[in-house]
Amino acid sequence: MVSCLFWTPDGSLGEGVLPQTRDLARRVASWDFVKKVAWLGRPPSWWQADVIPAEWSDRRGWLQALLQASGNEEHLMLIPADAPLLREDLSRQIWQTHRQHKADYTFADCYPLGLAPEAVSTFALQGIAALEQAEELPDRQGLFSCLLHHVNHFDVETLLSPIDLRTWRITFFDDCPRNRLLISRFLERAQWSLDRFLSEVARDRVSQRTLPAYWKMQWTNAVAQVPAYSDPRFYSTTRVDLPLEDLRRMLERVGRWMGGGVLLPGFWGEVALYPHAVAALRSALELGFELVVETSGLGWTSEVLNELGRLKGKITWIVEADAWEPQLYRQLRGEGFEVMRQTAQTLRDMFAGRVYLQTTRCDLTEDHVENFYIQVKEEGYKPLVVGYNDMAGRLPNRRTVDLSPWKRHPCWHLQRGLHSLADGRVVSCHQYPQGEVYWGNLLEEDPAAVWERGTGWMLAHQEERYPEECRSCHEYFQFVF
Ligand code: SF4
Repeated sequence: MVSCLFWTPDGSLGEGVLPQTRDLARRVASWDFVKKVAWLGRPPSWWQADVIPAEWSDRRGWLQALLQASGNEEHLMLIPADAPLLREDLSRQIWQTHRQHKADYTFADCYPLGLAPEAVSTFALQGIAALEQAEELPDRQGLFSCLLHHVNHFDVETLLSPIDLRTWRITFFDDCPRNRLLISRFLERAQWSLDRFLSEVARDRVSQRTLPAYWKMQWTNAVAQVPAYSDPRFYSTTRVDLPLEDLRRMLERVGRWMGGGVLLPGFWGEVALYPHAVAALRSALELGFELVVETSGLGWTSEVLNELGRLKGKITWIVEADAWEPQLYRQLRGEGFEVMRQTAQTLRDMFAGRVYLQTTRCDLTEDHVENFYIQVKEEGYKPLVVGYNDMAGRLPNRRTVDLSPWKRHPCWHLQRGLHSLADGRVVSCHQYPQGEVYWGNLLEEDPAAVWERGTGWMLAHQEERYPEECRSCHEYFQFVF
């Protein structure tokens, strides 16, 4: 017999919880190998079974709460409270495997998250709690993340998925509008047998194109530099700045529809050259976007940098340096090394731990990538090495390594990204910055209607009938957010 414990990373459950979660709780309570079902943390109002009140602000606190919840039971089954597609067949297999092998910890591997619980002995839980150092909240991998670094200390059993779905990056948790839509699209099929359901998840990528996870939004098409490995023809000669009022209107409408997500305003344009950069960044933060600002590091005045330091919210910076020594920098990006370095230092001091210095790996940089990585890391930045983009075959092949998978799959950018230009037009992806392929205009139309026009491309990718524009593209496997 086992105690089943419902939990979420912060101990609560969102107001918009699907009714299926209630049915799930009732189902779990009726399982014949379950002794007690309890809620850890703050339960929703409809919860009628046991509650173990607990607060935690990091993984150690959470593990202590689990230990407290275990009472006299020898084993616990941890059930994500917001996973309405949790499967009884998998849950039974987890429990049987755990008991049969007298395991410390048993989990389902290579499945989408949210289909199976984790089983753990209280003996192992004590050990994991003693070893845990992380100061962040538990994540959606549950105990597995805590166990990962100490895996040799424990007897771990794994239930392996018949289809390895890890690279699909699917989470059936009702924790954001994107995942809620995903769950609703697979809800009926979740009644199918496990094998059939997993095959369907592997096949149906169109249903996984729910809402954008990130939005690359051009505020201005002005740039400070054109790198040597790029080409001026991809940059517009007619400057367009998105009016601030239009920008705010777009942020509000699209943000409401997306339900939050990551906003990248440096899309084929230098944010520093946008006349209302600070006001626009502030508006985006107030609307709940997480910001990732890609910049050359040129064009920021000291007044603007000071104002940036006062912004409240989550901003990550990516400074496109390419080189960390002046001569190579000049060859790759032109003048401005000292200015870029000064900006990077200021940002590093203001946004500790959230400043990346980026280089593009290609034949022009290959001999310097390792040094770049070591140097910038020593100076307190996070190094970021990105692959060379030949713009779907329109630039020479400068790649020094080929990291593409052995079998092509549908494009991540198509599935998860929204890409808009400074005039409001939505392009298919970052490969068409001049609007060569566009699906509508966010200043004039409903964002959902514009987004929907990408479904045909997604279906074509799923069926391996790649549109002409995508055929020579090597960017499809780059997962952004
Ligand atoms: S495959 Fe390439 S061109 Fe096609 S949508 Fe993806 S990134 Fe764009």
